[in-house]
Amino acid sequence: MARACDRSGRDVNEITLLAVSKTFGPQMVVEAVAAGQTAFGENYVQEGVDKALAVRELLPPGASPPVWHCIGPLQSNKTRLVASHFDWVQSVDRLKIAQRLGEQRPAGLAPLQVCLQVNVDGGPSKSGVAPADLPALADAVAALPGLRLRGLMSIPDPVEGFEAQRALFLRVRDLFEALRARGHALDTLSMGMSEDLEAAIAAGATLVRVGRAIFGSRR
Ligand SMILES: *Cc1c(COP(=O)(O)O)cnc(C)c1O
Repeated sequence: MARACDRSGRDVNEITLLAVSKTFGPQMVVEAVAAGQTAFGENYVQEGVDKALAVRELLPPGASPPVWHCIGPLQSNKTRLVASHFDWVQSVDRLKIAQRLGEQRPAGLAPLQVCLQVNVDGGPSKSGVAPADLPALADAVAALPGLRLRGLMSIPDPVEGFEAQRALFLRVRDLFEALRARGHALDTLSMGMSEDLEAAIAAGATLVRVGRAIFGSRR
């Protein structure tokens, strides 16, 4: 991350590292917290909830609990768990899911922080809102109680080479800037994983989601 920031004249402190801990046990998260890592991402809702509860038990007294991001596909029957146990959800791509999340967010908690997942390069079967439908979805989600719209997330299909990767990420960046120009106060552009975080940072990512490059390969 620091090297990629050097190359593109950015400050590494303006980029959040999300450690994607899916498939790894709570002890790995506790070790990462002890090393200073604060934000963790999970794909599978039940796994994430179980892990968050286990980590809370394992942390030494006084340690602040990590910030948990849900980054996996969302089904209606899982929204209550997400609303109750996560701080962020980055994979919202339908209004109906956003409405449920907002309604189910417990009143005592801060609003659920939301990124809309956008599909910049895939067909209709791929997760994420189509770019043409993004402005209307953003307007509707921003108006919902219980949620705070923070930005966009995207998972472009893997492509070879820095320039090709960067070109895809720049499309997401353009959509992000267009929403800001439309009046949305967005600060989070979530893109880039272990294999392509340098290109994502060059294209303006403010959050990179990194699993294997931190924890090693998943089984
Ligand atoms: C698994 C996953 C990641 C992390 O991928 P790595 O290649 O392990 O860095 C990031 N984002 C999402 C949405 C994922 O599902």
